[in-house]
Amino acid sequence: MASGSSASNASSSQACSNVCPASIEPSQILDGSYLGTLAKEHAAAFSSVIVPVTPPETTLLWGTICSGGEVLLFTMKELHNLYVAMGFKLRFVHRFSCEIKPALQAWIFSVNHEVGTSADGAETDDMKYCLFERAEDMGKSVAKCVRHNKFCIVPNVDLLMMGTSCKDISRASSAYRADMLVMSMQSSIGGSAETFCGAEAYMLRHIVQIFLFENVDALDDAGDLTTHMTNLSVVYGRLEKCGFALKMFLMDTVLFGLPQSRRRYYIIGLKESAAAHFDFSSKSASQVLGTVENLVRLCQRTPPCASMLLLGEDDCAIDDELNRRLAMGEKGSKYNVSAAISQFQGAGLSWGAVDARSGTQDTLWYDTLTKLQRNVLTYSEAEYKDAMFRDIGQSSSRVRYSQAIQDKHTVFCQMPGQLVWVRRPEPEKLPRLQVGREALTFQGYPIAQIPTTISMTSEKVMQEIAGNMMSAPVTLALLQSLFAALPWRPSSHSKSTQTTERDVDEALAVFNAASSSNPASDDVSPRVKRLRRLRIRPNAE
Ligand SMILES: [Zn+2]
Repeated sequence: MASGSSASNASSSQACSNVCPASIEPSQILDGSYLGTLAKEHAAAFSSVIVPVTPPETTLLWGTICSGGEVLLFTMKELHNLYVAMGFKLRFVHRFSCEIKPALQAWIFSVNHEVGTSADGAETDDMKYCLFERAEDMGKSVAKCVRHNKFCIVPNVDLLMMGTSCKDISRASSAYRADMLVMSMQSSIGGSAETFCGAEAYMLRHIVQIFLFENVDALDDAGDLTTHMTNLSVVYGRLEKCGFALKMFLMDTVLFGLPQSRRRYYIIGLKESAAAHFDFSSKSASQVLGTVENLVRLCQRTPPCASMLLLGEDDCAIDDELNRRLAMGEKGSKYNVSAAISQFQGAGLSWGAVDARSGTQDTLWYDTLTKLQRNVLTYSEAEYKDAMFRDIGQSSSRVRYSQAIQDKHTVFCQMPGQLVWVRRPEPEKLPRLQVGREALTFQGYPIAQIPTTISMTSEKVMQEIAGNMMSAPVTLALLQSLFAALPWRPSSHSKSTQTTERDVDEALAVFNAASSSNPASDDVSPRVKRLRRLRIRPNAE
């Protein structure tokens, strides 16, 4: 593709204009059961527009690079459970993670142990994974594995998934440079360049059939002004050279049922030439990816209010974190009085005349803030008092605020270094800082399913994991749509009873036409007739 044109080709997850998507129960997000519910609902929605294709008895091996909190363990587990319930013999086996930070390695070990061990305690296939240390070694035949504490063979996987550090490319990062094509370099401050080079080397050496890539939306910022290249077009070009047919998706978590604005690019790559499990003879990889784009739209959900996902006031995690912060004592910080005064004056406020809001100074949480953070908090509460969540982790000019529409609050993009002050309208709920596990919940991490891991991990590390991870419901929507759209190779040579790919495309065209027409119209019979002709079950009207 032409350099620089990539961004305009990304399909954007737009809110449905005429039908409001179903919502997710906050209790299901909190207890982690929502992913399984979503998987079932997505399958039902898909079957109303396409006849589901039964995959053959197949095992798909998967691995991740720059694994972080490895939330994909849950996505793949829910898909596995769904397909078992549907009678499919499609299995997913986790072969490796790759993560350099020891705290995150410990998290991956622990989560695998908590969710991957079978009921009788025997080691399942999923427990045979390797945990490699360095992304840049993934193109080698052997690499250092911290799980087995030796050099292990880097195994083949069918499905490779990766994010790269947002540190180099996020606009909120101090390392960010809009004019630098990080993704074309061999190394970078945040490690994105090394990570991508490692994944690329892996894909040139191994037979990867499916690739999933995630990064921040700043990936398509200007970059090189002479060549009009962006980091996004660099990534796209390098993946095309690896032999993939590609499609980009610009996904916002808030459209998939979680109350967080988080726009991220996801790129799905399919390699026709390596397709052991798929037959692209009647439908090309590009056509499959077009179907994925349509199916993903059926996975949209309306989020609950962010306040519904916060811990209760009596939760001991809140007390523990407060006590930890109090024990650290008041931290010193660089505090520039004259800069603070001009900041206040610039906002039309008088220095010294602004008091902290009532309740703010009454709480012990306020005592744990540095002078600078107190100043930023006071300033931001004077400037914009109604925000329920505010990130005071940077400076007065860089405070981020939650948004509210009709008293329903949506948090800003969760970041590793944020310091989020929460003030709810109920007077009995004193203002406090958000804790790390709450950031994980805003990302859809099913933390209730891993109590041991949570109890072993600091709130700071949990916030870091949340800030860097892929959004759980977005990965579910993308992967489930992909598995539903893929032309699985039949396991026997008997005449296939599967729907033809042409049917699927016609069905989706009908669905799209139907969903964009006036839903109040009672003239549905021609549409139902057409759906019947295409062997599609019409939706209940
Ligand atoms: Zn190993």
